[in-house]
Amino acid sequence: MNLARAYPQDDDANLARAAALAAELEGAAPHAVLRVAIEREFGDRVALVSSFGAESAALLHIAAEIDRATPVIFIDTDKHFAQTLQYRDELVDFLKLTNVRVVAPDTDEVAAEDPKGDLWRGDPDACCTLRKVRPNERALAGFAAWITGRKRHHGGVRARLPFVEHDGRHFKFNPLAAWTPREINAYARAHGLPPHPLVAQGFPSIGCWPCTSPSEGTDARAGRWAGSGKTECGIHRPAPTTAPGRRMAF
Ligand code: SF4
Repeated sequence: MNLARAYPQDDDANLARAAALAAELEGAAPHAVLRVAIEREFGDRVALVSSFGAESAALLHIAAEIDRATPVIFIDTDKHFAQTLQYRDELVDFLKLTNVRVVAPDTDEVAAEDPKGDLWRGDPDACCTLRKVRPNERALAGFAAWITGRKRHHGGVRARLPFVEHDGRHFKFNPLAAWTPREINAYARAHGLPPHPLVAQGFPSIGCWPCTSPSEGTDARAGRWAGSGKTECGIHRPAPTTAPGRRMAF
């Protein structure tokens, strides 16, 4: 175990290190990716961010097998389905997770920016910034890296998702990047993982109740912000292609 690495280094070094890790881990099994993140590279400086949604159980189970004390961050936007909160508690008990951190939007910011609680209707980007992006950034302030549940089959900008990236602030590990819904479901069945109760009601992807609807077909995230053109909440910053503040040479 080598947890003595000097993270973070300068921006170019972080980008280069992320690219090297991505090349090393491309195609690796999720267990292997998580072991590298948790045991070899970052130790207690890596957290797993989970929505406790439709596909969350597999990643949480793998992390729990490696270390049940891995920090797990759940952003409680105050707009989740009641079933999601019940499912979170059920999964935490089932997996015996011991370090789940529930983070919420800042109450003063909510009072100032969304006093009626309906910002999602007129400005969902501002609502996501208030209720997801800023709480997530605050929760990750003490960490050098995080683990996400994003997958290439989600499509859009995720179609080319690397196994490891650096977003200018943190390293990000995407252990399930290459898994398909079939592999995720097979893993869940093999390990007896409880499903999110809304999956049986036609929700293949589950976020906040105002912005999630049932959907059918091959696009797992079609029911998120349906009909609005919005596809991401914003917690996943685009990975820089060069260090911030430096110009590309043409
Ligand atoms: S998903 Fe909808 S309700 Fe949730 S934070 Fe974003 S805009 Fe607001």
